[in-house]
Amino acid sequence: MNQRVTRQFLESLKRAGVTHLPTVTPPAAQPASPVQQVPVPTPPPVAKQPPMAAPARPSPPPAPVVAKAPPEVVPVSKAVAPTPVSIPDLPDNASPAEKQAALNIVAQSVSACVKCQDLASSRTQTVFGVGNPDAKLLFIGEAPGADEDRAGEPFVGRAGKLLNDIINACKLKREDVYICNILRCRPPGNRNPGPIEASNCREFLDAQIAIVKPEYIVCWGSVAAHNLMGDSSTSIGRMRGKFYQYGDAKVLCTYHPSYLLRNPAEKKKVWDDMKLLFADQGITL
Ligand code: URA
Repeated sequence: MNQRVTRQFLESLKRAGVTHLPTVTPPAAQPASPVQQVPVPTPPPVAKQPPMAAPARPSPPPAPVVAKAPPEVVPVSKAVAPTPVSIPDLPDNASPAEKQAALNIVAQSVSACVKCQDLASSRTQTVFGVGNPDAKLLFIGEAPGADEDRAGEPFVGRAGKLLNDIINACKLKREDVYICNILRCRPPGNRNPGPIEASNCREFLDAQIAIVKPEYIVCWGSVAAHNLMGDSSTSIGRMRGKFYQYGDAKVLCTYHPSYLLRNPAEKKKVWDDMKLLFADQGITL
């Protein structure tokens, strides 16, 4: 009920001569309407202080910090170990960067591999492969030796220096080719890779070949030649000097640089093989 209207109505009756009317209450004495009361209960300064006194609430800040920390550390290192090799799908015209990224994924599987337990337990690290991920030429050696096991890179010892000389004589740089081995772990005592070890490592070799997609593969020595071509009955001396086919790549087999270090007279045959390899590409050495 609007009391102002009531009061005006009573006053108009009074002016019209009506007597015995109820007393008109002065507006100032009337209680404020609910709408007018809104600003009145403004919180006193004291009431605003509790939120400022945040230290009085101890529990919320530490809780999330403790809850988030373990998942960031623990699962990452454990997740890598059992990951099987997966070759990322690459388009036919994959860029060198895409190929390198794919190789990195395979290398991660290799570094966690424990299929050959004695190799995995004795290696310093795995030796995956190195060089141009988009190379026309892919080199396959035997297995890492002591120097490679230390460095994590294939062909860095004496045999590697001779291999570099051969590459340079072919007017290329080491970075132009892609270099890997039949095995990615060093066999203890530099023994030859066993057939099971070679078979265990084969998926990684095939993944590297599938990603790089070389036009030519060179097998350095009988271990590489016999394992890649699946023929261990033909000597390297009889395999060299001609091309084989592996997938889309032409394969040339020749003597291992370590063999050349022991038998320097055989270098001429390797040079003949290099001339054959480059002549096939229309290049005269
Ligand atoms: N011999 C190989 O066959 N591979 C290497 O990586 C080093 C030496």
